[in-house]
Amino acid sequence: MKNNSEAAVTKYINYSDRSGHHSLPVSVIRSKRKTGSVIVNADGSAELRIPLRTSDSTINDMLEGRARWIVEKHKEMKVKEEALKKHMPELTDTQRALLEKRYKKNASEYFPLRVQHFEKIMGVHHKKIAIRDQKTRWGSCSTSGTLSFNWRLIMAPPEVLDYVVVHELAHFMHMDHSKAFWSTVESVMPDYEKHRKWLNDHGQELRI
Ligand SMILES: [Zn+2]
Repeated sequence: MKNNSEAAVTKYINYSDRSGHHSLPVSVIRSKRKTGSVIVNADGSAELRIPLRTSDSTINDMLEGRARWIVEKHKEMKVKEEALKKHMPELTDTQRALLEKRYKKNASEYFPLRVQHFEKIMGVHHKKIAIRDQKTRWGSCSTSGTLSFNWRLIMAPPEVLDYVVVHELAHFMHMDHSKAFWSTVESVMPDYEKHRKWLNDHGQELRI
């Protein structure tokens, strides 16, 4: 859930294990934030999110300090992904394309309704809604007022989809993930943590 002010560069963590030598790319993303954090997405891709003015040596220190954790998490995600693939029902390409088309249509009808619902509660207004096809992003919002949502959320429990809507609308008030941002989300959705966790744990299952 990033905003337009972000730009990424890629660093690499080199490691070796039984299967050989590896170079794991880590996207280093600068944005308006106070502290750094490391994220490993469901597809195993790693991100280091840092404040705008972070020196290169600080970045290298952070990567070095977290390298082991990042590699472990990356491997864990890959194992999960493989296990999941084995349990996926076999769809033909045609079936998958038709299903995807239907889900996207549902998403383009359903998201505006939920956005409208929560805008009334939160007193914010969007300009445009875009339904996107992203592997690891659930939603984003731009300063120009465009909200983007991942159509795959239509396969998630409704309250999880609502959480992403509330999250992005809250960015209209706070363009960061500050305490103020989270308390805005919480004021609209007191049990948002549960839905956030669901996305973390099950987000990778939202595919066909
Ligand atoms: Zn966000």
